[in-house]
Amino acid sequence: MIILLNMEQDDTGRLLEAIKYASEKHAGQLRKGSARIPYINHPIAVTQLLYETGVSETRVLIAGALHDVIEDTNTPPDEIKEFFGSEVLNLILELTDDMSLSHDERKQRQVETAPGISVPAKMIRIADKICNLRDIMYYPIDWDTEKKKLYIEWAEKVVAGCRGLNLALDTVFDETLEKISILLSAEERSK
Ligand code: ZN
Repeated sequence: MIILLNMEQDDTGRLLEAIKYASEKHAGQLRKGSARIPYINHPIAVTQLLYETGVSETRVLIAGALHDVIEDTNTPPDEIKEFFGSEVLNLILELTDDMSLSHDERKQRQVETAPGISVPAKMIRIADKICNLRDIMYYPIDWDTEKKKLYIEWAEKVVAGCRGLNLALDTVFDETLEKISILLSAEERSK
């Protein structure tokens, strides 16, 4: 059950409200892989990474916490508008794939649209990709090396259209890419 947001809350209160809301929306969902990590761990990690790389605007952090809610749950966009405002909703919509398209079309569209999305959406997009790469690195997942490599190549293309706005975030992406490349090379050698 969603409890109505108290509009009198300060920034921290609103962010916590958004995290609680996202956790209710993603209830029962798990991240890919056998570690059975609750899905909500991912939007929290994205929000935390944004904060750690200097993003302090509450509406951006809230959009980070809610970025997968429309795509991956049956949340009506109007509900997000009502609880968190139209700025947050618009950011989430910029980051939401059109699920009527095929998997490959959605991936291609993310690459094509990346340069044209708003500055905060670009930062959330990069944080999202970093967190996905970290999950691939650190959680057991039944992807072979080739599938991981394809994901990394795609993530690099999307991020290429988003970077140049937040040096800290770009640096974390590059470092993550370096680490995962080393791990994958080791994985290939051990075959
Ligand atoms: Zn995500």
